[in-house]
Amino acid sequence: MEFNFDFYSPEQALILPSAKEKKIELYIKRDDLIHPYISGNKWRKLKYPLQQARQKGKSHLVTFGGAWSNHLLATACAGAQFGFETTGYVRGEQIDNPVLTLCRLFGMKLQFVGRDEYRDKRALFERDYRRNPNSFFIDEGGYSPEAAKGCEEIVKELQRVYDHIFVACGTGATLAGVAKGISLYQPNAKAHGIPVLKGGDFIRKAALGLYPDLDFILHCDYHFGGYAKTKANLMSYISEFCRTTGILIEPVYTGKLLFGITDLIEKNYFKGGDRICIIHTGGLTGFLGFQSNFLLDLNNSNS
Ligand SMILES: *Cc1c(COP(=O)(O)O)cnc(C)c1O
Repeated sequence: MEFNFDFYSPEQALILPSAKEKKIELYIKRDDLIHPYISGNKWRKLKYPLQQARQKGKSHLVTFGGAWSNHLLATACAGAQFGFETTGYVRGEQIDNPVLTLCRLFGMKLQFVGRDEYRDKRALFERDYRRNPNSFFIDEGGYSPEAAKGCEEIVKELQRVYDHIFVACGTGATLAGVAKGISLYQPNAKAHGIPVLKGGDFIRKAALGLYPDLDFILHCDYHFGGYAKTKANLMSYISEFCRTTGILIEPVYTGKLLFGITDLIEKNYFKGGDRICIIHTGGLTGFLGFQSNFLLDLNNSNS
C-alpha cells in the first residue's frame, strides 16, 4: 500500500507591510492545509516510517511525546487512517487535555511515564515491546532519517526559485530535510531554521546527525523563553497576523517563525528583491493549550 493521499499545499503570496516596503517577496507554503490532525510536517515525517513499518509487517506504532505533542496526535490519526494500532508514551504525570482526548478518540493507547524514565525511549520500548514482534519504534517528534527524507519533498514541490527558505525547528528533522531538498532542487536558496526552544544551537548537531553535509543558518533568538513559552509581544504579533492575513499561526512553532522573519526584515537582514519561502508546518492544535489565557487577552484588547 502506498502511503499517500491527495493533499493540497499551495504556495501563496503573503503580504506583510514591512516586506512590501523593502521590496521583499514573501510566499508561504501551506503545509498546514495538508490535514487537520496529520498536520504539516508531521505528515511529511510519518510518510516513510509508516511505509517502512508496513513493509516490515508491523501493525503497531509506538511513539513518544509531551502532553501537547502534535506528533502524538498525528501518529494517532495516521494509525487510525492506515490501519495501525498506536501507543503513545506521554512525558510526565497522568493528565488530560484536548490533544490527548483527540489521541484517544483516534484509538491511541496512552502511557504516562515519569521524566527520568522518559529520557531513554529505546529502553522503554525494549522493556515493554521486545517480545512483541508487531511493534514499530518511532522516536519523539518523529526524528529519523526517514522523517527528513519526507521533508525534502516540501522543497521538491516548490514552483518558484527562492533566495531563502525558512522553517521552525523542534528536533531539527524538518530543517535537515528542507536543507537537503534545497541542495537538490533550489541550489541558489539558503536554508534557515528558527528554533523554538531555548539554546537552539543544539539543532545544528541534530540536523547534521541526519545528513552530515548540510548548509543552513539558525536564528536562535526567537524562542521567547523556551518551548511553548510566550510573551505578550508574540501574542499580539500572532493576533495581528491572523487578523490581516486570514492564515492561522500558533504560539509554539509558526508564531515564533513568522515573528522572527518579520523581525529580520525590519532589521534589514535581507536585500531588496529577495524572494523568501516560509514553510507553514501546521500544528494548529498547539493553540488548544493557550486558548483560555489568549482569548481572555484578546477579548480585553477588543473591548
Ligand atoms: C513538530 C513541529 C515542528 C518541528 O519540527 P522538527 O522536525 O521537530 O524540527 C515545526 N512546526 C510545527 C507546527 C510542528 O508541529
